[in-house]
Amino acid sequence: MKKLQDLAPLIKNFDLLHETPIKDGISRRHALKLMGLSPIAASVIASSTATEAKASNAKGKIVILGGGAGGIMAMAHLLKNLSNPDITIVAPNEVHLYQPGQVFIASGVYDGKEIEMSNLDFIPNEVNWIKDEAKTIDADNNKITLRSGEELSYDYLVVATGIQYYYEKIEGLSVDDIGKNGISSVYLNDLEKGTHEGGEITWKWFNDLKQAAADGKKPRAIFTQPDTPIKCGGAPQKILYLAADYLKEAGLNAQCTFCTNTGALFSLPNVAKQLEKTQKTYEGMTTKFKHVLIKVDVEKKLATFGHAYQVQGEWDEDFEMYDTTDHYDEVEMEYDFLHVVPPMGPVDAVKDSSLGWQKGTAKGWLEVDRYSLQHRRYKNVFGIGDTCGIPMGKTGGSARHHAPIVAKNLIATMEGNEMKEKFDGYTVCPLKVKYGEIIMAEFGYDGPMPSIPFWKDVSVPRYSWWIFDVYMLKPMYQHLMMRGLM
Ligand SMILES: Cc1cc2nc3c(=O)[nH]c(=O)nc-3n(C[C@H](O)[C@H](O)[C@H](O)COP(=O)(O)OP(=O)(O)OC[C@H]3O[C@@H](n4cnc5c(N)ncnc54)[C@H](O)[C@@H]3O)c2cc1C
Repeated sequence: MKKLQDLAPLIKNFDLLHETPIKDGISRRHALKLMGLSPIAASVIASSTATEAKASNAKGKIVILGGGAGGIMAMAHLLKNLSNPDITIVAPNEVHLYQPGQVFIASGVYDGKEIEMSNLDFIPNEVNWIKDEAKTIDADNNKITLRSGEELSYDYLVVATGIQYYYEKIEGLSVDDIGKNGISSVYLNDLEKGTHEGGEITWKWFNDLKQAAADGKKPRAIFTQPDTPIKCGGAPQKILYLAADYLKEAGLNAQCTFCTNTGALFSLPNVAKQLEKTQKTYEGMTTKFKHVLIKVDVEKKLATFGHAYQVQGEWDEDFEMYDTTDHYDEVEMEYDFLHVVPPMGPVDAVKDSSLGWQKGTAKGWLEVDRYSLQHRRYKNVFGIGDTCGIPMGKTGGSARHHAPIVAKNLIATMEGNEMKEKFDGYTVCPLKVKYGEIIMAEFGYDGPMPSIPFWKDVSVPRYSWWIFDVYMLKPMYQHLMMRGLM
């Protein structure tokens, strides 16, 4: 927390924040006290707290797959809204990771243990907890086969299985290479075992990079973003800016290159423009758009990118536009340090079942309606969180907004009533543009959705959002979101 202490005079109520025993865990009472100090937290809570309806008497066996952010929040909202809940959760993990904290571990702000929570605290006795995984899902017969071989039937299913990483789809790279030969990846974790090595490895990588810069070499550091949907789309850039700032603060510099599949730094034009300005504050930082990492030679420290682009041809008189031709090159780049964001996809149990989209760009991701979050073909199945094949957001922030919608629409389905709740596409990307500044890019299907009404422009980097993200979001996640209280 060194950087925050340096900035102490700027922080209102710093003493209380500072005295909070965050490193040893934070009590629920203390968390609520902290949140009470924050107008930001108050606004976020106010904007998300809906008036609860009376609990329903609807009956049916509900199975939830997954004990991460989405699964636990769906469970908590269902428990709140059903008077006689019959809920089984299939979740292999006792340790529950607060994954957004991996970025703070990577940048030396949190210690590893700080992001470890326990599902024992979240899953009450009235819920049947099966510590296993779904191996296959037979949605035509409402049946799941667990890894143990046991079969499990359901009346209603909530799929909350998140995402899986495909490091091995990058030729020449394996998970074992991460942490060696200048390669890191903040994402690396094992949600079943509750490990989060990507955070620790990346923090060491920050320091190795700094050491190389201090040795006077101006190291070449490449940061990648793949061409699949990823959880927390902003994390590749968070690591880019925090690494560059870590060096800048020490009066050092690296040659940082961001290689991304996208054609802009962000989907919201205002935010993209602000990020372009951010990049200019870091000497030597460049971006290569439409560059996707396809191969790594870990020994030679050589990365190969697929670069797809269009070239303008002749003016076409008939169509009154220029002809364009598609091109594809492979571009080799030498590096000293490489931060890899792996391609990602839905977990096998979903991908290999009939529940995934059958074709198109979302193929394999859970085929739910983008508004109701109900499966488009299996009406007793709902989705929450990263597994959903919908246009917006693979973030914990989205899952928080999904949870009450899934619970209420599922209960309406159990009751035989019309579903009334609609997901508006809300997602949030807390872009750390430097230590002490965050752009809280909140948006949905129809554009920006600021939680704080008087901070309409979601592209403004703010110190207050840094404080909120570092100190308040984690206790809010643990003590409110995971209990269905927001
Ligand atoms: C580095 C990083 C930074 C991030 N930063 C942010 C941020 O700043 N803000 C934000 O909002 N979000 C952020 N996120 C994203 C956020 O953590 C996820 O979007 C959120 O956890 C999604 O919840 P989920 O339940 O869909 O998936 P998860 O929380 O990943 O949980 C999925 C669970 O399903 C289980 N599972 C998998 N397969 C099966 C199976 N077959 N059967 C049963 N269970 C199964 C897994 O063990 C896991 O526990 C970040 C993520 C990472 C990795």
